[in-house]
Amino acid sequence: MEVFTSVKSLRNFLDQQILQQKPIGLIPTMGALHEGHISLIEASKAENDITICSVFVNPTQFNNAEDLLKYPRTLEEDCVMLENAGCSAVFAPSVEEMHPEPAVLKINFGSLESVMEGASRPGHFNGVGIVVSKFFNIVRPHRAYFGQKDLQQVAVIRRLIIDLAFDLKLVVCPTIRETDGLAMSSRNRRLSEDERAIAPHIYRILVSSKSDLLAGKAINAVIQSAQEQFAGLKEFTLDYFEVVDVKTLMSIESIGAVGSNAICIAAFLGPVRLIDNVVF
Ligand code: AMP
Repeated sequence: MEVFTSVKSLRNFLDQQILQQKPIGLIPTMGALHEGHISLIEASKAENDITICSVFVNPTQFNNAEDLLKYPRTLEEDCVMLENAGCSAVFAPSVEEMHPEPAVLKINFGSLESVMEGASRPGHFNGVGIVVSKFFNIVRPHRAYFGQKDLQQVAVIRRLIIDLAFDLKLVVCPTIRETDGLAMSSRNRRLSEDERAIAPHIYRILVSSKSDLLAGKAINAVIQSAQEQFAGLKEFTLDYFEVVDVKTLMSIESIGAVGSNAICIAAFLGPVRLIDNVVF
């Protein structure tokens, strides 16, 4: 497995693959890899000859300096995991390599970014949109793999691909969880033992809320009940709990077709902000 740190060397490698008409899959990550990331590598390997994983903690998508500073960076371990998973090459650029000049362009995703993560993290999706566009232009993948764990990111990238005519297929992969239901996340490493023990409440409340909705309970009542449950768990500070349409991300007043509804949540557990969702 090759590890590239410069755009030029990665492009040279990919030029050869493109000449040989080998399909390329791209998995953009911020590293501190876990089984969730590896599931995206597996999905890419099943469909492409070449699988490229980028590992880049993109500063322009962080709106919280402490979150950026404390974001785990474990490139050596990441490379071992990727090699074992059969990844073809890693792209791990420096900030200067990725952003030689601060981008002047701003990407505004409209109503897709005025809610949930976008509302809580101003500028986040502009940073994501710019860096993912750069990865698409550098790697020129046939397919790009993203996790449903970041549901709003998926909606934004879907829009990016349509609006900028990127010639690639977006593949959305299911959320991989620990055995107790907690969605795997690089940020879980920052949880204390006690916080880690109660973190699965997020998924439990998501699952029970979904059951209540499917049983016909009113959406507002389900939201209120979830808010009350979090209020009773003093370690958590709920940021948002929303029942939305998966594509528009707008709050819904009644449950739509199977697969079009999502419950999305963000909550602080101590200093760590966790997000999760269920689609149904
Ligand atoms: P990140 O390194 O957090 O930026 O994530 C890189 C990619 O992995 C994104 O497309 C995420 O949605 C995806 N991902 C993160 N956690 C999981 C998970 N638990 N299951 C599946 N995909 C995930």
